[in-house]
Amino acid sequence: MIDTDVIIVGGGPAGSTCAWKLGRENVNCIILDKKTFPRVKVCAGWITPKVVSDLEINLDDYPYSMVTFDKIYFHLYGRKIKFGTIQYSIRRYEFDAWLLERAGVPVYQHQVKNIIRQDDHYIIDDTYRCRYLVGAGGTYCPVYRTFFKEVNPREKLHLITALEAEFPYDIRNNECHLWFFENRLPGYSWYVPKGNNHLNIGIGGYFHKLKHNSDTIREQWDYFVNNLRRLSLVEDIPAKPKGYNYYLRQRVRIGQINKAYIIGDAAGLATKDMGEGIGPAVESGLLVADSILNGTPYSLRSITKSSIINILLAKYRYR
Ligand SMILES: Cc1cc2nc3c(=O)[nH]c(=O)nc-3n(C[C@H](O)[C@H](O)[C@H](O)COP(=O)(O)OP(=O)(O)OC[C@H]3O[C@@H](n4cnc5c(N)ncnc54)[C@H](O)[C@@H]3O)c2cc1C
Repeated sequence: MIDTDVIIVGGGPAGSTCAWKLGRENVNCIILDKKTFPRVKVCAGWITPKVVSDLEINLDDYPYSMVTFDKIYFHLYGRKIKFGTIQYSIRRYEFDAWLLERAGVPVYQHQVKNIIRQDDHYIIDDTYRCRYLVGAGGTYCPVYRTFFKEVNPREKLHLITALEAEFPYDIRNNECHLWFFENRLPGYSWYVPKGNNHLNIGIGGYFHKLKHNSDTIREQWDYFVNNLRRLSLVEDIPAKPKGYNYYLRQRVRIGQINKAYIIGDAAGLATKDMGEGIGPAVESGLLVADSILNGTPYSLRSITKSSIINILLAKYRYR
C-alpha cells in the first residue's frame, strides 16, 4: 500500500496546480493519472493573463511556444468586430506536461476505479491510501462519481459537446477568430493559431439545443470547415476532429465532503459564456491547496464565472 497525505486524481491543470502549491509547502502528495504525459487533451488551448499570473509563469521561462494575441476578432451575425486584449495560446500537449513536471510530486500512471472511505482515510483500488483526496479527473472523475454525484447532480442543460482538430499548418493568418451562433450553432467556433506553425480549429455548443434543432455537432463541423475554406483561412484539414463533452458552470452546491474535494471540470466550473475551463481549474486547484494547508473551508464563490468581460478588460488590467 502506498500511503501519503494527499492523493490527487488527475494531472490536468486543476490537479497539477493543486500539487504544485502543496509540494511547495512540503506536503506529501501524489498524483494518479490514467494516461502518461505528455498526453493529448481536446482543447483550443487559449489561456488568459490571469492563468499566467496565478501560475506565476515567467513567459521567458516557458520552454514551449506561447502565442500572444493583442486582439481577437469576434464574428457575429455577419459582422466582424475587433477587440483589443491580451490573451495567449498554448498547446495542451506541451503545457499540461510542463505544469505536471513543474509540480515536482510523484506521478503514478493508474486508472482509478474504486474508492472507499475507511477510518478517516481514503483507499483507492486497494493500493493507494491518503487522508485528503482531491478529484481533478475531468468530466468523468471517479471522485465526483463516488462521493459527489448524488449531492451535486449535473444538469444536462449545461452539457457542451465539442469537436476540434489540432495539426501542423502553414498558417497565413496569425489572428485569433471566434464565430458566434453561425449556422444556428448554439455556441461558437474558433480558429486559434499556435506556435511552431500549429493550428487549432473547433466548435462547441449546447447539446440539448442541438438536439432540439435536430442538428448534430458533426453537421456543424462540416459547415464550419467549409466556411474556413471559403474565407481562405484553411485549405485542407489533415486531422480528423476529436470530440469531448463537458459541463459549463452551474450552481455547484458542494465542493468538499469531509476531506474529499472536487476541482476543475470534475466540479463543472467552465465559464458560462465561453466554456473557458483552464482558468477555473487553476483557481480551484489553488483554493483546495489553501484549504488543505490551512484547514479552512473550500468555497467556489470567488472562481471566475464569465470570460467575455475579462477579455475586454485584459488590456487595461495586464499592460
Ligand atoms: C474542444 C474543447 C476546447 C476547449 N478550449 C478551451 C480553451 O481554449 N481554454 C480554456 O480555458 N478551456 C478550454 N476548454 C475547457 C478545458 O479544456 C477544461 O476545462 C480543462 O482541461 C479542465 O482541466 P482539468 O484539470 O479539470 O481536467 P482535464 O484537463 O480533463 O484533466 C483531467 C485528467 O484526469 C485524468 N483522469 C480522468 N479519469 C481518470 C481516472 N479514472 N483515473 C486517473 N486519472 C483520470 C485524465 O487522464 C486527465 O489527464 C475546452 C474544452 C473542450 C472540450
